[in-house]
Amino acid sequence: MEAVQEIVNPKAEIRSKIWMPKQVLITPAALDEPWGRQIYERVQALGLPVQELKQNRLTGLRGEDERETYRKAKSTLAIVTAPPSALKLQPIPPSADYQFHLAEGCPAHCQYCYLAGSLQGPPVIRTFANLPTILNNLVNYRNPNQVTTFEASCYTDPLGIEHLTGSLAETIRFFGEQENMHLRWVSKFDQVDGLLNLPHNGHTQPRISLNTDFISRRMEGGTASMEARLAAIRKLALPQAQGGGGYKVGLVIAPIMPVPDWEEQYTYLLDRLEQTLNFPCEFTFELISHRFTPGSKALLQEWYPNTIIDFDESNRSLKYNKFGGKKYVYNAATMTMLRSFFYSELKRRFPEAPILYWT
Ligand code: SF4
Repeated sequence: MEAVQEIVNPKAEIRSKIWMPKQVLITPAALDEPWGRQIYERVQALGLPVQELKQNRLTGLRGEDERETYRKAKSTLAIVTAPPSALKLQPIPPSADYQFHLAEGCPAHCQYCYLAGSLQGPPVIRTFANLPTILNNLVNYRNPNQVTTFEASCYTDPLGIEHLTGSLAETIRFFGEQENMHLRWVSKFDQVDGLLNLPHNGHTQPRISLNTDFISRRMEGGTASMEARLAAIRKLALPQAQGGGGYKVGLVIAPIMPVPDWEEQYTYLLDRLEQTLNFPCEFTFELISHRFTPGSKALLQEWYPNTIIDFDESNRSLKYNKFGGKKYVYNAATMTMLRSFFYSELKRRFPEAPILYWT
């Protein structure tokens, strides 16, 4: 087969981000797990100092105020065991049938972070040492008659810490051997090279989160640049015979925001995407508009006091989730405007690519 040339934007900045924690902690229970020891050795080989804790609880991660706690926690990797409750899986529509977790917490600094307020305690990045138990448990949730999908990125960015854990590659291998079980994950990082040669058997769908260059630069601290993410999605989608991963990939455009010149900026993003995926490959879209809850707004404004995100409730519609929790979404007119733009542009440019949902 002929090699496909990528059309590269000459002005583009390809900026990768590799997170290196300032401290690594490991609990006694995690040290007892062979996978935990594997992570321990991996981080030691990277020259990172590892502190062996005497107890299984993480303490001493609070600072003087929320911002200091945030800074300390976000530069800490803790190798811990997932509690037994992690083996009771929850459904996660519309993204997948079930969610499960390789880790909790994320090294990036998105000013709209979806995790803000949803995890207890300081936002330290906890990676799970009992990975084989977590993976073997998934089989209990498989529907033997149809494909069951499992989402691994609800509480973390699994690719953002993959160089420290290896857990994502191990999970992809595991799913590659399972019948009727598919893995989904999403990332704002780009270090995909270690995932390209894996025997995934078409059972994993990697997705890359995309947004305008402006939103990515101003609101997604610590992540790979948009051009780096586009390069990563291309590598994942190219056939293995051409050095790629041969994955059916996904594009998650999120969070969609009507920033000034939004139409022009999203048009540019879609132009670049067309130039990037300019070879036969399968991919899907997921479209997520920006939303916040009263709790996430309060925490995010404490973490990022200079944020430029519009958190003004008077521009929004209030919605309730099934547990009675409030969330603020764009009002109906803004939603219709954004939704129509994306549906018409995506259908015109990528008629074969399903749009899985708009929310
Ligand atoms: S990548 Fe996702 S989880 Fe990580 S900081 Fe950004 S929004 Fe939060």
